Formats: sequence, structure tokens, C-alpha cells
Amino acid sequence: MKATALPALALLLALGACDERPASSPAPTKPEATAASSEVKNAGFEQLSAQMVDDLWKLFPSWAVSEGYYAVADQLQVPDDNYRKQVLDFVKQYRGLFRKIDASQLDSGASSDLSMIRNYLDRLQWQIEKFKAYQWNPAEYNVSATFALILNTDYAPLDERLRTFSRRMEKVPAYYEAAEQSLRTPASPQLVLAIKQNEGALSVFGQELEDKLAASGLSKDEKTKFTQRLIATREAIEDYITFLQTRHAELEKTQKYKNFRIGEKLYEEKFKYDIQIGMGARELYERALKEKARLHDKMTELADKLWPKYFPDQQPPEDRLERISAMLEKLSLHHATKESFKADVEKQIPELAAFVTEHNLLSLDAEKPLVVRTTPPYMRGFAVASINAPGPYDKGANTYFNVMPIADFSDEEAESFLREYNSYLMQILCIHEAIPGHYTQLVYANRSPSLIKSILGNGAMIEGWAVYAERMMLEAGYGDFSPELWLMYYKWNLRTVTNTILDYEIQVKGIDEQRAMELMVKDAFQQKAEAMGKWRRATLSQVQLTSYFAGFADILALREEVKQKLGDKFDLKAFHEKFLSYGSAPIPVIRKLMLEDLPKSQ
Ligand code: ZN
Ligand code: ZN
Repeated sequence: MKATALPALALLLALGACDERPASSPAPTKPEATAASSEVKNAGFEQLSAQMVDDLWKLFPSWAVSEGYYAVADQLQVPDDNYRKQVLDFVKQYRGLFRKIDASQLDSGASSDLSMIRNYLDRLQWQIEKFKAYQWNPAEYNVSATFALILNTDYAPLDERLRTFSRRMEKVPAYYEAAEQSLRTPASPQLVLAIKQNEGALSVFGQELEDKLAASGLSKDEKTKFTQRLIATREAIEDYITFLQTRHAELEKTQKYKNFRIGEKLYEEKFKYDIQIGMGARELYERALKEKARLHDKMTELADKLWPKYFPDQQPPEDRLERISAMLEKLSLHHATKESFKADVEKQIPELAAFVTEHNLLSLDAEKPLVVRTTPPYMRGFAVASINAPGPYDKGANTYFNVMPIADFSDEEAESFLREYNSYLMQILCIHEAIPGHYTQLVYANRSPSLIKSILGNGAMIEGWAVYAERMMLEAGYGDFSPELWLMYYKWNLRTVTNTILDYEIQVKGIDEQRAMELMVKDAFQQKAEAMGKWRRATLSQVQLTSYFAGFADILALREEVKQKLGDKFDLKAFHEKFLSYGSAPIPVIRKLMLEDLPKSQ
């Protein structure tokens, strides 16, 4: 599981980890449903959802491989009109079949699965009929990632994987032919990305692969066939790049690109399907604006309080944003060294666990240790730190906490990196990624394993929980209410809030790069390089950047609601454990189940 810099689709697809479907069902939520009848009702649902997943993997073999399901790894779907019709038929067929299931008779695990399936089917139809990225996003077409996974994942002996690889290559020319046929006018950032990424794709089909083939145990005939397909694959990718470059040259002249900004209507719809919280995109945006003002007030207060301690001989600047910025820069000097960075992170994990336990925030599972390692080479280049959990078909594998290797950085690079990821910020990042953030949430989700929640896990719930964990830990006294830690936390939290504002203003209100940079650098104290990267990401994806604040805001609202309902009986630990017990479902689904369960649980 990758946590920070993920495109929307990958996020939806990649998060989560659990085993097979549960053999026995959790306790029924409806008092009138006897255990026996609930199991029978669930059984019908479980069977149907298993059948749906089987069909899903046939339609989306690349997705299947990314989840660790290799039975379809030799398949490649050709993205033409006929294929899209098959997907729509799949939607209609399963929508009908699931309509016959009586949701009120299912236990909470199954009924939340069902609501996620329904949303997924609606979303799939909307993507093809309304959003139509297949017509304007040429970066959707790239075969390399799945081939790389087959080649680099040790799920079977290399000879067998090479045979799979060979069969999968058979349809690559047809695949790119269909891509060219499907595309209408592309959007500019997506076109530039597609050229770059498909150029990168060629490296998967390069000399290293030929060497592996030569050294393999494949027969002479197999090798000949493999080589023929390999040549055709390279040609198909090169042709597609040429096709895109030609389009690019034309469009640079006419500037008649499709607008990458999707506008209000599509944005609200995408938000509804992808985020699934108890409010719309516009309402969340307005909430983010208010939160930003509140954070600026809090930060001013803290910066003014800290000023005499750090700048005893210096007058503070008039402008409050400048004061905050100067204080943040000063605090950034408090950081690890190149050599100590990984060890510092390692040391923090047990400290966080001890704090959570001592302060009665959650029960932690001591039997599922988290292994800290430097990020392996093929995963580098995205996040400073991330959690890598085993997929749904990969029982019992370790969960890793990947930390960016910085020992090889030049002194200058390392200094700038370490200031950004200073000692204060690293504590917050470890809370977010590990304990009690993403890692802890996954451990809980795995206790009621659901394949549906693993493959369709809700991004706003997952990210929202990690962002919520940061606030909750500091409120509980982590860091002894140090104003330095709080100020740095607010900067970090402001980034989350700003992501929401930025995404909405770019995609719906149409602001330009200059205004976006101002929003990030001046108002949110971000480094210029980071802000430029974020601008690019916000032109390539839509809505996903809001998931962090969306989930955070919705979880806080739910906590308030439960507090109101329970009064003196409210217990934070019980709230957390109950909330996490439903798995990575959308927060409104959790809310409904949780409120039904309340009188019994607390
Ligand atoms: Zn995260
Ligand atoms: Zn330094």
C-alpha cells in the first residue's frame, strides 16, 4: 500500500490488505436475525460477490495482477468499443443480481460490502458513459506496469513467468491500435505525461529482458516466438509514441486541447463516487476555506508565543504569514542527520505504540510487527515514507514501513531534505503512516477480512483516518503539548486543507498556475519545488487530492455526533475500535452501522 502520492485509480485499487473471505460471519447486527438465518442470507451474498470478483478479474486482468492474483496474468484486454460494451454489460448484469439481495437481512460486514459494490458498479458506468477519460487521457494506455510486475514478482518460477509474459504480449499491437482509435482530443498535461510514460515503458522490454530470456529454460521455439512478440511489442509502443507526438505538435499549433479542468458538474459527480462522505464537493471546499482561516489564527498565536525564545534580538515582521514562515524555518533546523535518519524513524515506532497503549487510545496487536526498511529501488521516487502491506492474495507476508534512503544524497540535497522532514515533522509522518495511522488501521481491517473492502477500499476513510490520527495523538498529549510540535503539525495539516482548496479551485473555478503557487507557497508555507509538483499532480488527477481532508472532516464530525449521543458514557478508545472494526468502508456506511450498534457497544 502506498500512502501519499498516488493517482486516484491506483489509490482505489492499491490500498488495503487482507486474507480471503471470512469463513464465519461476525455477529449479526439485527437483533431479530438469528445466527442461522443470517449465515444463510450472507451465504447467497458471499457467493454472488465472489462470482463478481471472478468476472471482474477477467475484465480487468491488470488490476488483478496488481492485487497479487496471477491466474489471469497472461490476459490483456484490448480497450476498444466492444470491450467497453462488455464492461457495461457486466455492470447491468451484477446490478440486477445484487438488487435481489435483501440488504436489511445481512450482517454489518456484508451489508457494507454490498453498498460498496453498488457504488462501484455505478461508478464504472459513469466512467464510461459520462467521464470518458478513454477519449481524452492518452496516459490511460500503457501496458508496462503489469509486465514489470510479472517479471519482478517471485510468484512462480521465472520460466513460467516468461511464458505468461510471452502470451500477454500477443495482444499488445491490438491494444495500442485500439488506444489510437479510442482517443479523441487529448488534454495537454495528460498528453505530455503519456509520451513520457510510454517512453519509460520501453525499458521494461529492453536488453535486461532479452538476457533473462536467453538464460532461461524455455525451448528454442518458445524463445523464437517470444522474440517475435517482443519486437512487435516494441514497435507498437514506438508507433503509439509517434502518434502522440504528432498530435502534440498539431495541438501545440492550434491550442485546441481538451480542457484538463473537468468543471463543476463532473467534479461533483466524481466526488460523489470516489470520496463518498456525508457532503458534496462544494460544501467540503467551503469548510476547507474556514479551516484555513482557523489554522492561520492558531499558527499566528503559536509563532508569536515562540518568537522571543528563538529570535530574542529580532523584531518580528509586521505580516503575520511572514512571522509564521520565519518561525517554521527556524524549527526546520531541528533535524536528523543523513546517517541517523532511518534509525530515528525505527526508534519512534515503539515509542508511538507505548504512547497509544498508555493513554488508552486503542488496543494494538503486538503479534503483527512492522518492519522498517529503506524503500526498495523499484518503489523509489514517490514518498518519503510509506506503508507496504501484503495484498489480499498474499497471506502472511510482512508489512513494511519504507523509508527513503538518503545516505547517498549529497550534503546539500540531504540538508534540504532533512529540513523539510525535520524532527517535528517526522514524528507526525510516523503517526500518519504507522501508529496509530495507516498500519494500525490495516491491522484492524484485517480482523474482519473482506476481499471487497480490500479491493474497493474507500480512500477518504483510509487517508482520513491517518490524518485524524495525527490530530488525535497531539490532543492526547503526544509531545507534551510542545508549541513547536503543534506549529509544525498545523503546517502539515494546512497542506491537507490546501490540497482540497487547490483541487477545487483548479478543476472547478479555473485558477491558473500562478494563483495556485501563491496558495501553496505564501498561504501554506510550502517549498517551491513541492508546490510545483503538486500543481502538476492537480492537473493530472481530479478529486483525489481532497480525500485526506474529506475523510478527516467526516471522522471528526462523526466523533462529535457519537459524543453528543453518549454524553458521559463516551469513551475514546471504544469509539476508535468500533470505528476501525468495520474495515475500509466509506465513512457514511460506517456511521450508519455504528449508530445502529451504539446502545450495545458502549
Ligand atoms: Zn496517508
Ligand atoms: Zn541542518
